[in-house]
Parts: sequence; C-alpha cells; structure tokens
Amino acid sequence: MKLDNVFKKTRLSSGRKGYISLNSARPEVPEGLLRKCNKCGSAIIAEDVKNDYYICPKCGGYFRVHAYRRIQMVTDAGTFEEWDRGLATRNPLEYKGYEEKLRTLQEKTGLDEAVVTGRARIDGTEVVLGVCDGRFLMASMGEVVGEKIARAVERATQERLPVILFACSGGARMQEGIVSLMQMAKTSAALKRHSDAGLLYISVLTDPTTGGVTASFAMLGDVILAEPKALIGFAGPRVIEQTIRQKLPKGFQRSEFLLEHGFIDGIVERPQMKQTLSQILMLHKEERGVSLESAAWESAERSTEDREAGKLSVSNRLASGWDRVLLSRMNDRPVGSDYIRELFTDFIEFHGDRYYADDKAIIGGVALFRGMPVTVIAQAKGTNTKENIERNFGMPSPDGYRKALRLMKQAEKFHRPVICFVDTPGAFCGLEAEERGQGEAIARNIYEMSGLRVPVLSVIIGEGGSGGALAMATADEVWMLENSIYSILSPEGFASILWKDSSKAEEAAGVMRLTAEDLYRMGIVEEVIAEPAPYTIENLKEVTRVLESKMEHFLSRYGNMSKEELAQRRYDRFRRM
Ligand SMILES: [Zn+2]
Repeated sequence: MKLDNVFKKTRLSSGRKGYISLNSARPEVPEGLLRKCNKCGSAIIAEDVKNDYYICPKCGGYFRVHAYRRIQMVTDAGTFEEWDRGLATRNPLEYKGYEEKLRTLQEKTGLDEAVVTGRARIDGTEVVLGVCDGRFLMASMGEVVGEKIARAVERATQERLPVILFACSGGARMQEGIVSLMQMAKTSAALKRHSDAGLLYISVLTDPTTGGVTASFAMLGDVILAEPKALIGFAGPRVIEQTIRQKLPKGFQRSEFLLEHGFIDGIVERPQMKQTLSQILMLHKEERGVSLESAAWESAERSTEDREAGKLSVSNRLASGWDRVLLSRMNDRPVGSDYIRELFTDFIEFHGDRYYADDKAIIGGVALFRGMPVTVIAQAKGTNTKENIERNFGMPSPDGYRKALRLMKQAEKFHRPVICFVDTPGAFCGLEAEERGQGEAIARNIYEMSGLRVPVLSVIIGEGGSGGALAMATADEVWMLENSIYSILSPEGFASILWKDSSKAEEAAGVMRLTAEDLYRMGIVEEVIAEPAPYTIENLKEVTRVLESKMEHFLSRYGNMSKEELAQRRYDRFRRM
C-alpha cells in the first residue's frame, strides 16, 4: 500500500505540514506521528517504528538509527559515558565553507562529529563503544572521526576492555583530502595494538558501510556482524556500474552477499543485537580462562601397559576393515552438528574465511564446554540429501580450511582450546578448489596447527579421508570412534592407484589398516571410543557421555601445560611417526 494512495500531504489548519487521510474516518494526522517507509512506501506510525527498533512494521525494512538511539538499544540503561566530545577539525585543506558546514550540522543534529565514542555496559560487561551517525556528512571519516576512534581504542587497550564499533559511512571525507586517508592507517594501527594485547574487537556493519571505512576499521573485527540487507562495499555500486558499464545483480554488496562470500561472521536482526553482543562478550571474558572445576587429574604421561590394558575399550565384534568403511559412511550416523549440540552450550557459529566464501562443509564457532570457552570446528556432512548437497557431502573447499584456520588462530589469541570433529571423505576435488589452492590451504593448516599455542583435540567421528582430514587433525591427541576410519585415501582410490581396479576396494580396506583398532595399535591415535550398534542419533548420548568425560580430562591435562610445552609435545608427537 503506497502512502500516496491513502494520505495526501497538505498544509493543516494549524499551519504545519501534515497528511490528510483519504479513506479513514480521521480527517487529519499531524506530521511527526506518521512516517513514510522509504523501502515499501507504506504509511507507518512513527511511535510504532520507534518502539520496534526502527524497523518498518509493514515490510521489515531497517531505518537508519541515530548514534545515541543505537547506544540506547544495545547498552544497559544509564551506563554510557561519552568520551572526547568537542574535538575540532583543523580543516587541513582550508576547504571553503567546511567549518560553517560542520557548525550547521552540529546545531542540526546535536552531534559534535560523525562518531560518538565512550564506555558503557552490556548486560553488565564493560565495553568501549563507537557508533557512527550517518546524519553527519554521511559519517565520512575525517580527522576527528579517526581521532575519536583511535583514542577510544587506545584507552580500551590500556584498560583491557573489548571494543565494539558500529560502522556506517560513506567513506573518507573528501573535504579533508589526504588527512582523511591517513585516518584509515591511524584507526587500523590502534586496533592492531588492541589485538596484540589479546583483546576482543567486534565490528558491526550497518547500512551503508563503504569506501575507506570498509578498507580499515570496519573489516578488522575479530568478529564482524552486519545488519540485514546493509550495503557494504569498498566501491559504491554507482562507481562500479560506471566502470564496468554493466548493471549490478540484485543483492550485490548487501550483507547476505558478504556472508556468502566469507567476509562477515553473521547477520544479526536488530532486536537480537544486544543479546548477541552480550553472548560474544561472555564467551570472551578474560576471567573465564582455562580452568575446569575438577581437581588434580592424572599426569599426561601414560604407560604402554595402560595403553594396552584399558584404553582400547571397544567391543570385540569381528568387523572387517570394509565393514568399518561402510559403517563410517552410514547416512544415519550422527554428524558434526549433532556433537556440537550435544556436548556444548552457548554455541555461536562464525562464518567465512575473510577471503572468498563461507564453506558450509565446515561449521565453526565458539561455545562453552562445562563453562569453559572453547573453539569448536566440525567437518559437517548433512543429515538429509538437501543438507548434504549444501554441505558438499562434507568435502571442504580451500575456503573451509581457511575458515577453520582463522578460527584456530582466534582461539590462540584468546587462549581457548580447539576441539575439531573430523568427518570427510576427503578435501573437495574440483576445478575451483584447485584454482583457489586446495593444496596450499591444507598445507597451511597443518603448518599452523603444529605450532598452535593452545590445546588441540581432534575426534574422528566418521570418515577421516586423507589430507582433508589431517588439515583438522594435526592435534595434541587424535581420538577415533570405534567404527570411524582414517586413511591415506579412500579404499576405492587406493585400489585404483595400486591395482588399477577400484572394484577391489573391499580388498584394499583389508590391507590399508584404516580402522580405529589398527591405528591405535600403530600409535597414530590415542583413544578409541566404543559405539553402540547400530549407532544413530537415537543413541548418540551413549557416545557423547563417554566423550564428554574424556574431553574434560583432556582439557584439564593440556590446559595446565605452558604454551611452549604444548607446541613441543605436538612436535614430538608427529616427529615420532
Ligand atoms: Zn516498509
């Protein structure tokens, strides 16, 4: 319903401008009570919009929000303390009329510049906050904006506080020329120090975030969130269209496009923003650290006798290698996401490799394991055909490995242990995978994981196929479920390469030593976890109950080791092989 069909703009008897309704009993609705949605054109009551996070009740479109209202929406009432108000620009180009322009805007908006910074609490957690306001020269970044952000970040570093910046910007401020460009370096450099101090930075992108701001502070978050459908991009759509002389596809440079292309961790609806920020802050609280409640655990050293006696607690059903291969591939076998749901709480998924895509064959994020923050990464097959296609049957692309690595490096920054669930027939073999460097991506993961300075545990829950599995299993310990497999490649591939006959897969499975039992005896894996038969989602708990207690054990043993000791032990583990 278009506003113009129902209401007619006119001068009211009071002398103010307003609307006359053409089809309602009420003759006059004063301006200020009504707004016209610039997305769907509907007439909407201003009060309704205000009470609903500035979202159109008709089409769900998002209105731009003033900085102070944004702060109200995401912080605890009365906790915001503003910093650095009243810094003045030096008008570096002596640009004519610029200072007057700023003064007019200051009077009109009540803002002193295009960003508001300060300290506040979110569900009790203290944060440093910066919020851009589009009313002020499209929140372009001049020296005052850069200075306020840099000061806020520096103070956050000093006081060891997380930073949250709500970006919205047309980019650099043309009136300040090269000085504006330098703000990109200034803000980024301040954030680098903040990050090097091991502190959390959450960037929230709102409509529109473009130009120099996307090429600096907006894209540097440990976690990057965006509001739905926000325009986010380096070059504006008009500039791109003029350059390439083509119409851009619908949805280009919108939040959803960025998510798909791996540049943001997630899209968050405005009403959920505070709660989402609160959850991320909670998962990054410094005092949480690595400390499970349990007292002294046994030492990490285990005797050979111990290994032989107790650890191989699997049933003695006589399953052949090939039987295990088939079992590991059963499509009703629990998948990565099932373990995440069952073993952890407060899981929040983070998306994307920040380079090219968000690979759905790998799920990763942060969660609590018995109250301790951990990074969880799972190779994920689907639970039905549709989901399997979406997840590429658990065959990751380079983007998936790069996402996993990004999350592992983040875990290292925040001193969180990493728990990986491995279940892949192998890394994806395809044209695009090669173009984007599948081999490089796997190599990089193995290389970086070998030196990761936090505990890393990998559990093979189904198929452990080749380098695609090792890229998530260069760990302190690798465990296997009883009927999972781990091998140089699939038995079909093995038979095909060695015997030029892929139909001899069953025979190959017999000689490859790919069962959990074989690998345990060879010292390739540390634990084998018994499975019920048949093993499905129905009796998943029988496995996770055992896994959970073993994981707790693992985390207390390895959590007490120094970074150097961890890296050395992992080095030695593979050095022996
Ligand atoms: Zn609307």
